[in-house]
Amino acid sequence: MQEITALIRNIPDFPEPGIQFKDITPLMKEPKALKLAVLELIKPFINEDINYVAGMEARGFIFGSLAAAELGVGFIPLRKPGKLPYDVKSLSYDLEYGSASLEIHTDAVDSADRILLIDDLIATGGTAAASCQLIEQAGGEIAGCAFVIELDFLNGREKLANHQVHSLIHY
Ligand code: AMP
Repeated sequence: MQEITALIRNIPDFPEPGIQFKDITPLMKEPKALKLAVLELIKPFINEDINYVAGMEARGFIFGSLAAAELGVGFIPLRKPGKLPYDVKSLSYDLEYGSASLEIHTDAVDSADRILLIDDLIATGGTAAASCQLIEQAGGEIAGCAFVIELDFLNGREKLANHQVHSLIHY
């Protein structure tokens, strides 16, 4: 895990004063450490019945797609408003900085699909909670939520209290 932690760069005051932004681009440049991060992300779920991985725009796409390929399942994107071309369901939520909305295609999830949700980082948990809600509203079941980074002091996992939450690195 030290190898992965060493490749996460802290950028103070980005995108606004007071935010310590955790930059995962150095990790993305190192194929061995990146692969290790993906294997560690899916480890608790490897023997579970997972139909899809879902990931949030934009950095959830990177880890989510790699995790889906490792698990041999498909990937479902949760996107910012106005990006998905077909019929969508939307949900608004609060962020550590500001507020946001996410959308999912109405036909992305079939009822009884079991979905592993993946993002680079959980902060307040608003993004992940909204994603779980969108998937559950579509009839899917959340098999678990996995993050490379968790900002423990923001207690984001409390918003995901009824789901299994797995994070690799804690700040
Ligand atoms: P939240 O909804 O507060 O849990 O925020 C999580 C989402 O915002 C994730 O998609 C992260 O990529 C992004 N995010 C929030 N805070 C940070 C941070 N300090 N560093 C990097 N990304 C962050």
